[in-house]
Amino acid sequence: MPERKTPKKPLIFYYLISLAILLIINVVVLPTFMRRQMTEVDYSTFLKAVEENRVLEVEMSADTQEIAYAALDERGQRQTYVTVVMPDPNLLDRLQRSENNIRFSRVKPTQPNPILTYLFSLIVPALLIIGLGRLFSRQLQTRMGNMMSFGKSNARVYVKAQTGKTFADVAGQEEAKEALKEIVDFLHDPEKYTSIGAILPKGALLVGPPGTGKTLLAQAVAGEAQVPFFSISGSEFVEMFVGLGAAKVRDLFEQATAKAPCIVFIDEIDTIGKKRGQGGFSGNDEREQTLNQLLTEMDGFDARKGVVLLAATNRPESLDPALLRPGRFDRRIPVELPDLAGRVAILKVHAAKVAMSPNVDFEAIARSTAGASGADLANIINEAALRAVRQGRNRVEQEDLEESVEVVVAGYQRKNAAISPQEKEIIAYHEIGHALVAAKQSNSAPVHKITIVPRTSGALGYTMQVEEDERYLLSKEEAMARLATITGGRAAEELIFNTATTGAANDIEQATRLARAMVTRYGMSDKFGMIALETMTNPYLGEDTTMTCSSETAAEVDKAVMEIINKAHERAIDILKDNMDKLHELARLLLTKETLTGEEFMQILGR
Ligand code: ADP
Ligand code: MG
Ligand code: ZN
Repeated sequence: MPERKTPKKPLIFYYLISLAILLIINVVVLPTFMRRQMTEVDYSTFLKAVEENRVLEVEMSADTQEIAYAALDERGQRQTYVTVVMPDPNLLDRLQRSENNIRFSRVKPTQPNPILTYLFSLIVPALLIIGLGRLFSRQLQTRMGNMMSFGKSNARVYVKAQTGKTFADVAGQEEAKEALKEIVDFLHDPEKYTSIGAILPKGALLVGPPGTGKTLLAQAVAGEAQVPFFSISGSEFVEMFVGLGAAKVRDLFEQATAKAPCIVFIDEIDTIGKKRGQGGFSGNDEREQTLNQLLTEMDGFDARKGVVLLAATNRPESLDPALLRPGRFDRRIPVELPDLAGRVAILKVHAAKVAMSPNVDFEAIARSTAGASGADLANIINEAALRAVRQGRNRVEQEDLEESVEVVVAGYQRKNAAISPQEKEIIAYHEIGHALVAAKQSNSAPVHKITIVPRTSGALGYTMQVEEDERYLLSKEEAMARLATITGGRAAEELIFNTATTGAANDIEQATRLARAMVTRYGMSDKFGMIALETMTNPYLGEDTTMTCSSETAAEVDKAVMEIINKAHERAIDILKDNMDKLHELARLLLTKETLTGEEFMQILGR
């Protein structure tokens, strides 16, 4: 059912405005307007005029402390004046004693012009209301007109000069670039493909986590192909009136066919491409109509004419299957998080835009940023440049990059956070606990840095581990080692201070998530083996999972998770007990130095 949307500003709004204007006229404009005809004088002048018998009439206003009076001026002309009353008990006396038989009263002075009054109190408001009503109804008309005539969509036309991006701007993502190059090639020379009878896919869907360069890739395609580039975001199709979104789709394709060969890019297509008909009365006719129109248009246009459709999303699982069938977005181009080589390449692309010291080690930075997206890396370079400026340097050094990695990961340093010595001690032991447990296990990544400088993210300290090379798999042993490392912080608190603090909250969360995944998704528990007890709902956005087992099994899963974590915790305690002297020594050192590098740490450990 089409919803009747009320206009944005209800009628009462306009009445209120009229009312406000009226009030202003009455309270501010009119009085000053009238006042202007009267000369303002001081009280002594008024008294003098009374003495000299020049005053004819006196009127005291009821609400303000003012007297308006009529008097003869030097030339014997009647003038009106206004003055502020002084506290004067003799005033009446004076007026009565005057020879002039002054008429005095306590009302509004000089009646305003009756025509003026009429004008302001009746005609002006009427005019105002009529005027505003006109304006308002015209607005409504254009809005309705939009709906009726299905006005032009605001698809913007980009041509090469405007995107200015080429494949050289996109680092890593070689497979994605390869797939897109074919499309560019087709747009340059369609003959080559059509003569052999090949039909190019109508649409390519870029899927991947946020910030991996999907939008950037689409812009690069446009830049390389040197054809018109229509770019529109899925949300721009979302309209208030049913049918308007669909009209926009139709209009977009109309424009595109007229400009062929060209590229149409729909960013964040999941906004309009969600699965239809979920949840009974969805009441979302508008979105469904828009999607239907998109499907129809995709069937309707002829790929041979050279209209290529690109779309991007980070929620591929929520897309309507009809969008993905052959003949529509049949080519799926994964744009994944960059690997080590990819991260180095991305860092270099962005570093080229800032003044870098020649001996910067991009490898090291890339190694310490496993899991970072292209957008994160671009941000790291920019933060480093900002830091260099703050430090009064004109080149970015390695230390800037290292610090900005931490800023992006953990936030800025909170240098003046007031942490008591006792708490600092607990934090130091906690972090050394992590580091020691990590270092004493063979299946654990080397410790890169330990710090107890608090960060704006709320972290009071942290231990950074950096893998020597890129890892794609996680073995059961490594998972257990990681769990032991995570529990190492709390284990140290328990051993040394015989207490537990909230500082381990984040560790506990991490450990639970990992142990849970080991049981439900990685098949690493003896009890369940290779049974999927949980499925990922979205692989790219967070780790949304849903349990797919009975509640009895779920209870067993919890038990298995607990067992795993307890085992890891015990291992951490054992390791720390065996290395008590090192734990004390390192924690003392960390307390004085606040930050230990991996080398310093290993040196002391190896003594
Ligand atoms: P997405 O659309 O996948 O969410 P974007 O394309 O908007 O991500 O990327 C955001 C920014 O991150 C880009 O403008 C660019 O500066 C940077 N970026 C991401 N991936 C890359 C890459 N592969 N090479 C270079 N820069 C990248
Ligand atoms: Mg994007
Ligand atoms: Zn911790």
